[in-house]
Amino acid sequence: MPDRDKALSIADPHQLFRNSLEQATDAVFVLNADGQVIFLNAAAQALCGASRAEVIGLHVDTLVQRLPDGGHATPEACPQPGRGNDERDERDGRGDRLPAVQVLRADGGKRFGFLAESATTLGDLTLRTLLVKLSDAAGPCRDDHPLLAVIADEIDSAVLVVDADWRIVYVNAGLTRMLGYAPEDMVGRTPCDVLAGEFTDLAALRRLQAPHPAPLVERHEALIYARGGSPLWVSATVRHLASTGGGHHHGIVILSDITQKKTYELLQRKVLHAMVMEQPLPAVMELICQEVQRVAPSVIASVLRVDAERRLRPLAAPALPPEYSAMLDGLPVGPTVGSCGTAAWLGEPVVVSDIAADPRWADYRHLALPLGLAACWSYPIKAGDGRVLATLAFYFRRVCEPDAFHQQLVEVCASLCKLAFERDDAAERIQQLDQYDSLTGLPNRSLLQRQAGKLLLAARQAGAALSVLFVDLDRFKYINDSLGHSGGDKMLREVAKRLIAHAGESALVARLSGDEFALVLPGSDRTRTIAAGQRLLAAMRQPLRIDHASIAPSASIGISLFPSDGDTLDYLLHCAEMAMYDAKAAGRNLFRFFSIEMNWAAQERLALESALRDALLNEELHLNFQPQVFLRDGRLYGLEVLVRWHHPHFGKVPPDRFVPLAEDAGLIGTLDRWVLERSCAQLAAWRREGIPVPTISVNISPASFRDPALATHVAETLARHGLPAHALVLEMTEGLLMEDDAGIAATVAAIHAQGVRLSMDDFGTGYSSLGYLRQLPVHQLKLDKSFVIDLESDAAARELASAVIRIGDSLKLAVVAEGVENEAQRQFLLSQGCHMGQGYLFSRPLDADAAAQWMKSRRPPERAAPLPNHSLR
Ligand code: C2E
Ligand code: CA
Ligand code: CA
Repeated sequence: MPDRDKALSIADPHQLFRNSLEQATDAVFVLNADGQVIFLNAAAQALCGASRAEVIGLHVDTLVQRLPDGGHATPEACPQPGRGNDERDERDGRGDRLPAVQVLRADGGKRFGFLAESATTLGDLTLRTLLVKLSDAAGPCRDDHPLLAVIADEIDSAVLVVDADWRIVYVNAGLTRMLGYAPEDMVGRTPCDVLAGEFTDLAALRRLQAPHPAPLVERHEALIYARGGSPLWVSATVRHLASTGGGHHHGIVILSDITQKKTYELLQRKVLHAMVMEQPLPAVMELICQEVQRVAPSVIASVLRVDAERRLRPLAAPALPPEYSAMLDGLPVGPTVGSCGTAAWLGEPVVVSDIAADPRWADYRHLALPLGLAACWSYPIKAGDGRVLATLAFYFRRVCEPDAFHQQLVEVCASLCKLAFERDDAAERIQQLDQYDSLTGLPNRSLLQRQAGKLLLAARQAGAALSVLFVDLDRFKYINDSLGHSGGDKMLREVAKRLIAHAGESALVARLSGDEFALVLPGSDRTRTIAAGQRLLAAMRQPLRIDHASIAPSASIGISLFPSDGDTLDYLLHCAEMAMYDAKAAGRNLFRFFSIEMNWAAQERLALESALRDALLNEELHLNFQPQVFLRDGRLYGLEVLVRWHHPHFGKVPPDRFVPLAEDAGLIGTLDRWVLERSCAQLAAWRREGIPVPTISVNISPASFRDPALATHVAETLARHGLPAHALVLEMTEGLLMEDDAGIAATVAAIHAQGVRLSMDDFGTGYSSLGYLRQLPVHQLKLDKSFVIDLESDAAARELASAVIRIGDSLKLAVVAEGVENEAQRQFLLSQGCHMGQGYLFSRPLDADAAAQWMKSRRPPERAAPLPNHSLR
């Protein structure tokens, strides 16, 4: 029997139909006219997870449910995978139009697939046949590996499995948690259909979806939208898998929420960096706005500062037209001043989701609506004390309410803005500290400069007078030394108070340094300034108690006038300072107006200083030598070297004039070294010539003793000229010893240790204590010429001279009297036990040749006079 016939012969048409359905790999449900299941095949039975008996008779709707087409707007540009690919449509046996369904299982689970429906007529019966093609028979399904499904659901990331057409066949519970979509919302659709939105980068997604040779992992960051439309940043990892059968591809897409990371990236990388780099506040705000717009492209961000008068001041709005910001500039905050003015007024966030309708925008919507701005949320940025410093606004082009993403962004940005404002505030405070004297609270010189600049400008414009006063306390150093630093500080604070109290309301009072203050009196002409000067001096003189001491402070004041003396603060201050020195010189506790002569004096001083610099450089100085002799017989004891300067323009400049100048100008070290060098050279030359000069005395300034290299330099100079150390005497002044300086003491000791002798010059004029003198390695005292000159006329001078001589004697020091001009003085000194002298009586200071002549003419007699009985220390 041919097969065909055999088949026909056994076939009951029902049986045949049943058999063929049974073989189908897709699930088949046959329904009656009422929609009740009257037959299901083995695949359908497996799909439902129930016995046939349990299923037959159920209404199909309790088993198979069509999935909605989805309520999400599908961007036009998003490609529909598979669409237009006819070949594949045929191969799969379904087009893209097959509706997606879910099959409810007996165990409560769901399976997803596509539904094909047909009607079959069997005799007079019309039966509906539902064919459910599993979304991908070969693909992974929740039920294939229940354990995996449980695991997948535990993952926080959203996991999607897509088929070759990028249709979703599976989603985990994490996706529902992250994006709010249930599996039935997504299965059968493409991720792009569901998740893309207004600002999604579709090109990137398209690249992601392009067919790839499997396996391949790709990663992308994308802005997607959750159910309800709130955006979030995700990192999408796509793994393309080839099924073992070949041809069919699957993809696993894992989405991780990186919104927080993205916002912190903004915070850390750029904005904090900008702050660390000390970018100005507007630049930091601009950057915050730009970063917000990058992370949340639907936002147009702006920051408005709230100034001290509670007015809005645009700070940054990089995406808004400048005209818009300009229109907001200066608006006072208030209860109905748009979103920002209101937020600043309330100190609370103001969310206006519809500018067109919100009453708070009634007066301002005409500014915003034409720019397409539809919503504006504004958040106040507050200082620690609750003050609103600024507002941060998020504008949108559509009506909208805040969502989690934007909320998070606002929080991050608001704290960033707050930080930036606080830093700015701190910088300003530091600048303030920088401008005020911390002791008295008065403006310092730099602030004075700026404030006085404004006053001068105003005076110039108004043609008004102005005076500058330079106030210097009298004998402050003495008070500071005797009362200690804290006493000095108290005095300075008190002086500051008195100056403020008596300078007049419009006056500017500043502390320049130490005990120097400056006052600028706007509108004050000569007459008014005299009154002010008298008032200030009187105020200063009020006795002041510091600790247990009562002090009567006083000040010397120099005054300069605008515009007659000068027209810049610097110059006026300079003139006032010169006048102050004049006041000091005239006896202190008084004021002096600047005069042009003072300026000449000062200018001459400057000219002299530069001439001295040149003279030192060009060796235009020369030396004089003045003999020191034994008073008894006039024999040479030594020579004192005295420096001389004859300048072509200034003439003979006495050392009393240029030595202090050299000290002030920092030239004294050079000068003293030069004199030492030339003195030693001269002594060596005389000794070579056979002129016996016992010692040479060189004057060394206190400032040179402060140079720690002096001892070495002295030793080197002596060595260079082959001179023994005892041939040299260095004359130093008492003032040096007042400075209780360990460095100076060490230098003096080192010089003494070499065998160079030290002489105390001008003895009796200073205040050195005898106890102190005893500790010093001094071998000689020079009785100051002021005592010697008055010996005949003044009993007190005689007493003092005798006392000095006795001191020297008791300390076993040689005493040399200076300025001996006549025989009476010589006799008196001798009678008091002073053995050496120097003065016009013996010789004036002489140049080297004359000194040599003087020495030759006074060759000592062959019989040497007895040396004075003074041990050399
Ligand atoms: P000094 O060290 O006390 O020098 C003595 C001053 O008295 C010299 O004035 C000298 O010319 C003067 N003199 C000498 N004999 C008589 C006299 O009989 N009667 C009167 N009335 N005066 C007499 P000079 O040369 O003008 O020097 C003044 C001061 O300049 C010196 O006082 C010294 O302190 C300083 N000086 C001079 N040369 C140097 C130097 O090379 N280096 C340093 N650092 N200072 C020097
Ligand atoms: Ca001297
Ligand atoms: Ca002297």
